[in-house]
Formats: sequence, structure tokens, C-alpha cells
Amino acid sequence: MKRYIRKTFFPLGLAGLLLWTLSCAVNPVTGKQELMLLSEADEIQLGRQTDSQVVQEYGIYEDPKLTAYLNDICQRLGKVSHRPNLTYHFKLLDVSVVNAFAVPGGYVYLTRGILASLNSEAELAGVLGHEIGHIAARHSAKQYSKAQLAQIGLGVGMIFTEKAPLLSELAQLGVGMLFLRFSRDNEREADDLGVEYSIKAGYDASQLASFFETLERMNPGSDRTGLPAWFSTHPNPEDRLQAVRARAKEWGQKLGVRELKLNREPYLKTIDGLVFGEDPRQGYVLDHVFYHPGLRFQFPVPANWKLTNTPSRVQMVSEKEDAIILFSLAAGQSSGEAAKTFVSKTKASVIRSEATAVNGLSSHRLISDIQSQSGVVRVISYFIQKEKYIFAFHGLSARTVFPRYENLFDRHMRQFKELSDPKRIDVKPDRIRIRSAGVSETLEKLLRSFGVPNEKLKETALLNGRKLNEVIPANTLLKIVEKGR
Ligand SMILES: [Zn+2]
Repeated sequence: MKRYIRKTFFPLGLAGLLLWTLSCAVNPVTGKQELMLLSEADEIQLGRQTDSQVVQEYGIYEDPKLTAYLNDICQRLGKVSHRPNLTYHFKLLDVSVVNAFAVPGGYVYLTRGILASLNSEAELAGVLGHEIGHIAARHSAKQYSKAQLAQIGLGVGMIFTEKAPLLSELAQLGVGMLFLRFSRDNEREADDLGVEYSIKAGYDASQLASFFETLERMNPGSDRTGLPAWFSTHPNPEDRLQAVRARAKEWGQKLGVRELKLNREPYLKTIDGLVFGEDPRQGYVLDHVFYHPGLRFQFPVPANWKLTNTPSRVQMVSEKEDAIILFSLAAGQSSGEAAKTFVSKTKASVIRSEATAVNGLSSHRLISDIQSQSGVVRVISYFIQKEKYIFAFHGLSARTVFPRYENLFDRHMRQFKELSDPKRIDVKPDRIRIRSAGVSETLEKLLRSFGVPNEKLKETALLNGRKLNEVIPANTLLKIVEKGR
């Protein structure tokens, strides 16, 4: 969670997405006519709506200088793409996982995690070019159309209406749709376009292949926000590396360009100080306790439950995935008022509603039933007032399963309390730092001389896109991770 957490139960507004029109359009890349469910105007509107969700869900990494630098490169690539007239919106997300993605209508996202793994402007341009390629060839627009059709087919479009906002929170289909996998053909085409655009912008496009090599050596996975890693959203076409290198050569000859930019140093100097890995200031788990240093609270996490922490909420899911605890900010002046608002918004039938105290904090406890598409869900809620904020816990499961979890829900929620331990409050994130090799030496010796501990050598080599036994020329800039906390 971030300091600027939004209120709970915001309407997702996705219903508007259903207002597409059926039309035939010329594909900007192939020049061929194709059936498109989205017009360009729809695409842009869709992009705008999805963007606000992406920002809400994952949060923006606040660094105006770095963002301006990245945006400039993104704009130059957009100008040489097949859709130069589209307005490109570049955003840097405060997410540690390595990923990049695009949304119809010109929205391009990089995570701070991918920035930590890239080693030059040329690699960066390749990745941005690839994402702009998805937009130019309208891959995501086509995916969206398909996903929307599928959704209507299943009748789940309903969950985005005001009737059951609780479930819209749960389903997360909105941003989930971003991560529908593209086909391998789409990936191949985006690679080709990435090469073309980055070379036209003056970069050494073969560097995209080097970055794919780095990615392949990394462990895929997701981070606290649940955002998946690149490879789970971008299937790897066969012979990808060779194809990228071959295309880069072809384009180089075709355009007759001699000097292609790598721009390693300016890139590395710009990311000096970048937050690396999870940022504990936005909440972290230690020994089964969730601590939030910014908002000064803590609560226990049930053993073996899976926790995801996004800017707008903390979500914990039971091992069997049959129960869930949602934690977020609630609207209202008091805990009692927040409970009332919740009941009226969700049209819950109240079973029990009472004022109580949680570790000395004025609170309201509520048990209710909420009608959902898949049946009745029983919910136990605690609305807890701490200074000017009202925090809300909702523990939910199917009515039949609820008795099994009721005590656990109650026990954990009642342990919410003020965080006052300075050791838990004063936490600092790890950061990327740039060091210069004083002499020509193997990467391993250089990293040791920078104080990189044994167990971090491999990971640090990977971040630099080099091998430990590789000899590094003097004056080469290298990344290390500066320990926080
Ligand atoms: Zn892709």
C-alpha cells in the first residue's frame, strides 16, 4: 500500500469498455483490411480507462528526471513507428518485477524492475520499440476485443456494475486482461517492429537480443503486487535471438546506417539510485506480520496465506483459495459511518453490526451476506479508525465455508494495531548504484572489490548482463545493489 491509497470500492468503470463498435480497419503495419472491434477512437478511450486502473493498481515510480529521460526515448520511437500520429503516454511503474507492456491507444509501461535489468539505451529502445510494435500492429486492441467477447459470453460482464462492487475488487479482471498472452506470431512481429523502430531512431537494434539473453537467465516470477514477469505475458517465439540479430543486420544494410548508438553510460548514469526489489516503505511482511511504516500500522498474516500488496489494497488468500481477506482504506468520518456506507453500496444483508474496540481504536464489527454472481458470500468486516483514516478488513468466503474461517478472521483482524517500533518504521529500500571499474579485471574480482557479498555475485553479474569470469575493461561502469534497511 502507498500513502495515497484510494478509497475502497471505487467503481471500475469498465462498463464503458463495452461500447465498442464493429468496424473494418486498415492495419497500420500490414496495410491490409482487417475486422476490428475497436475504432481508433475506441482504442484511445479504452487505453485511457485502462491506464487509470494500471496506475491505481501498480502505482507510479516518482522520479521526474528519470521519467523525462525515458519518455523522450519513447516519443522518438513512437515518431518512427507505423502510427506516428498517435499520442504516446509513457509511464514508469513502481513495481520490482521485470516487465514492460502496452495498452491500446498508445499507453506504454515499464517497471522499475526492468530498468534495473537493462544495460544501455539501445536495449531500452529495443524493449520500448517492441511494446510500441504491439500498439502499432494493434495486437492488444485485437486481444481486448477477443477478451471482451469471451467475457460477455460468460456473463461475467455484470460484475463491473454497481451491484456487486465487492466482487469487482476480487475478480481484478480489469487489469488481469492486460496480461492475456499474445500469440507467438504477435511476439515475432513485435520483435521485428522493435528492431525496425530502434534502428530508425539510431540505436543498435541487435541489443534487444542481448537483453532477451539476460531475461532468459533470470528467474521469472511475480512480486508483491502480483504483476507477472515478462515471459509469462510474452511467449518466447522460437529462434527469437537469431531472428532479432538477422533483422537488425537487414535493417542496418537497408538504411545504410554506420554509427548505431549503444549509449551505455548515459543510461547507467540516469538509473543511479533507482529503488531495487521490494520497497519496504510501502509495506512488508516479517515473521508473519505485515508492517506499514508510512501509515504506521501492523497486523498478523495467517500462516501459509498468499499476500499481495498493491497501492490500493492488501489481499490475503487462503491456501485452499476458498477464503480471502481484503484490507484497504474505507470512506467515512467514523467507523460506524464506514460500515453503513459499505452496507448500502454492497446491498449487504446485515447479520450482526456492533461497535467495538480494536487495541484501543474505535471500531465497528459487521457480519453480512452479499449476493454475488456465483452465490451468497458471507463477510466479516472490521472498520477501524486510526487518526484521520478508517481502515477496513473484509474476510470473505462462501456461506457454507465461512464457519471454518470465522475465528481466524476475527483473531487476525483484532490484532491490528499502531506501529510504534522505530526499527520497523525506519526502513530503507535497496538501490542500484553505479561504480566504475578502476582497472581491467574479471567481473567477479571487481564486484568483490565493490563489497558485493558472495551470495549476491551471480545476481549482480546478471544485472550487468555479464558473466562473472568475463574480463571487464578499465573505466567500465557497473551496477551494484546498495543494501537498504
Ligand atoms: Zn511482446
